Amino acid sequence: MSSTLRFKVVSEAFKKRPLDVPTPIERPSEFFGKYVFNRQKMKHYLPKEVYTKMMDVIENDASLDMATADAVAEGMKRWAMELGATHITHWFQPLTEGTAEKHDGFVEHDGKGGMVEEFTGKQLVQQEPDASSFPSGGIRSTFEARGYSAWDPSSPVFVMGDTLMIPTVFISYTGESLDYKAPLKKALRAVDKAATEVAQFFYPDVHKVISNLGWEQEYFLVDEGIYAARPDLVMTGRTLLGHDSAKNQQMDDHYFGSIPKRVVAFMKDLEIQALELGIPCKTRHNERAPNQFELAPIFEETNLAIDHNMLLMVLMKRVARKHGFRCLLHEKPFAGVNGSGKHNNWSLSTDTGILLHNPGKTPLDNLRFITFIVETLMAVWRFNGLLKASIVSASNAHRLGANEAPPAIISSFLGKQLSEVLDHIEKSDDQELQAISDFTQVGKHGVQLDIPQIPELLVDNTDRNRTSPFAFTGNRFEFRAVGSEANCASAMIALNAAVADTLRDFKERVDRRSHELFGQHISQEQLHRAILSVLREDIRTCKPIHFDGNGYSEEWKQEAARRGLDTESSCPLVIDRYLDEASVEMFQHTHVFHKAEIEARNEIKWDTYTKKIQIEARIFGDLCLNHIIPVATRYQSALIDNVHKTSEIFPADMASKLSANNISLIQQIAEHSSYIEEHVEQLVEARKVANQLENIRQRAIAYHDNVAPLIEDIRYHVDKLELIVDDEIWPLPKYREMLFIN
Ligand code: ADP
Ligand code: MG
Repeated sequence: MSSTLRFKVVSEAFKKRPLDVPTPIERPSEFFGKYVFNRQKMKHYLPKEVYTKMMDVIENDASLDMATADAVAEGMKRWAMELGATHITHWFQPLTEGTAEKHDGFVEHDGKGGMVEEFTGKQLVQQEPDASSFPSGGIRSTFEARGYSAWDPSSPVFVMGDTLMIPTVFISYTGESLDYKAPLKKALRAVDKAATEVAQFFYPDVHKVISNLGWEQEYFLVDEGIYAARPDLVMTGRTLLGHDSAKNQQMDDHYFGSIPKRVVAFMKDLEIQALELGIPCKTRHNERAPNQFELAPIFEETNLAIDHNMLLMVLMKRVARKHGFRCLLHEKPFAGVNGSGKHNNWSLSTDTGILLHNPGKTPLDNLRFITFIVETLMAVWRFNGLLKASIVSASNAHRLGANEAPPAIISSFLGKQLSEVLDHIEKSDDQELQAISDFTQVGKHGVQLDIPQIPELLVDNTDRNRTSPFAFTGNRFEFRAVGSEANCASAMIALNAAVADTLRDFKERVDRRSHELFGQHISQEQLHRAILSVLREDIRTCKPIHFDGNGYSEEWKQEAARRGLDTESSCPLVIDRYLDEASVEMFQHTHVFHKAEIEARNEIKWDTYTKKIQIEARIFGDLCLNHIIPVATRYQSALIDNVHKTSEIFPADMASKLSANNISLIQQIAEHSSYIEEHVEQLVEARKVANQLENIRQRAIAYHDNVAPLIEDIRYHVDKLELIVDDEIWPLPKYREMLFIN
């Protein structure tokens, strides 16, 4: 871009006025779910017996017969066509981080030379998209070439534009998962089963446990004209160069500040469209960095919440363009200011309430609460490396451990009160435990439990340790290490499966313990004593995971290593944790993955990592050689010219005085430029060497160790040149122009 074009782009961005967003006359409660085939619509558009069968499928996992599927498809078609839909698509989540869809028209020959609108149960239930176009990590060569998508009736279909969208799983013909949804559903089934059995220790009539997720989506907005003038943003989603703006977030004036008008118009439009698609948007605010914002809905069942997040990310990008913005979901679009995450608020609940919530009413509730807290901690402790593996990526690597987001070590924050309760249980001896366990009896008589802290427990949910990657916040854990661009399913598969496996193991140990202590037939009170005794052990065992201190400090890294926590920060090496024996066993136990699937998925992860860095390295090299060096040289020539002319006009000693500064600049430009040229060559060479490596993991490691650091290294010199070279000829929009335009 020429300098004049840069100024044109920037000044136009400043002039933009907010679009008028049509304000709906109805309240959100009236247009919420307008484009969703929810229960209410099912009731209206399906025959009564079909509706009843569908409820059985949705609520009790009953299987779906073809006749019912046909009838459901007919009802859906009628509803969708009334909204103007002409096409259907199976909508799935392949391992590319985005979503995929292939549209088919509602048309069929009518046999008389005309057309009819048709949509059958078979089309609803199953499709065969060409699986070869999606990453499968060798699954297809190992197993079977074809893949198919299959309807997930637990996530309602919806209409977007002219298309009826059907959420589906995507699997190979031999049943291996090729997507995120299939293993997620398996992990959710595993946690339902294991947690129900444990919940029945306390409430025998619990039949189902639901995993909940409330995500908080952070993002940046950039004016689209400016975006188009930054090839690095367009191609990689982040700026690969650019000097800090003199003012960025140091004043803390953006966070929770008033939202700029043009952005409010965007948010409003987005919220209306999201609510119409059934996404229960609730919270919006400015985030820490300039031009950074957040949107959070009310939490939902995890599978649905993830579909909604995937849908929202698509919607955000579309609506942003309508308002002349580009929405950046990358974890670190700008160096020097905060990156974006997607906190995953996670909890388990039964039909009667949230298991991680402590109402503090009865001792039984307290014991249930402590059980689910401690066993979640056990899961996080056992699989801390794996949980980190579930959230790492080339882009999230810029956040983790970079003093702004969770460190690259998974630990859990509990707050003062809960920590005291656990300490108290841990330190009780057998006699005291026995006394504690008597609470079921005393509790019934309305007497308070003999653990002073528990009955009046009001868990401290105001405690905000922002440095913790897995913090307890009152009635849920907040997994903060998830990246803004990621499909939350990756983290939710690992977490729910790990908790499922840990709860299963807990139940087995409690059964064994109560048998050892009390024999075959035990009373409730004896059961609770056995539970407390296992819990006391577990509190001791998982102690290393509990950390309430400053996660950003250098001491914590050393302390965490002493505690045996995973401190690896190299993304390709963290991915190895999926193949640890314990992880493979856990995934097999919970029926989430078998080993070949994990191997295949790891191949994709290493390959994706490599490609991302490869693309960045290429674009960066081009920018250096085609944008930066020529401009720097031009400016340097102008300076040299000036020095010459000065020496012609002025006496020698005067000229040298006048030109001292320019000569120093000429020298600096020469030094930075030659450093850049030399090292861009090295960068190309390092890529070539890495590309030669056959082994996909080794290649990713080479990209991590030898390519990525060179980009950062060279960038320092490019950013120095930005400070030196005449602003008028600098070819790329600068940070201050990208970050402060609304
Ligand atoms: P924060 O103060 O952490 O930024 P937000 O209000 O932005 O919180 O988001 C909190 C998220 O946690 C929301 O999506 C909210 O619905 C969700 N949430 C609240 N309670 C639970 C729970 N028990 N289980 C899961 N998510 C929850
Ligand atoms: Mg928030």
